[in-house]
Amino acid sequence: MTEFVPRGVPATLAAEAVAEMVSPVRCLICSAIYDVGKVTVTARYTDCSVWVSPCCNQQVDDRQHPWTATPRIETIDKASFSPYALDVFGRMEWS
Ligand SMILES: [Zn+2]
Repeated sequence: MTEFVPRGVPATLAAEAVAEMVSPVRCLICSAIYDVGKVTVTARYTDCSVWVSPCCNQQVDDRQHPWTATPRIETIDKASFSPYALDVFGRMEWS
């Protein structure tokens, strides 16, 4: 499968992709979904790990509020994942 699911793919495909991922997350930069279990970590610090996002090629880390004002990923709960909403073409409308 591909390394990430870009924003706008059909919801059923996104749901299938998420089901196959070990640790799915949503990129808060471009709204793609990718498997953080497959990224290549480039640096590890005591409070976070750093990698380059496969979707938009940005250097990101896994800090969340309140340790950063600008979290770059949002964990997706596989058990309860469902696309937020569908547009008229059946594509996901992500925030
Ligand atoms: Zn991205």
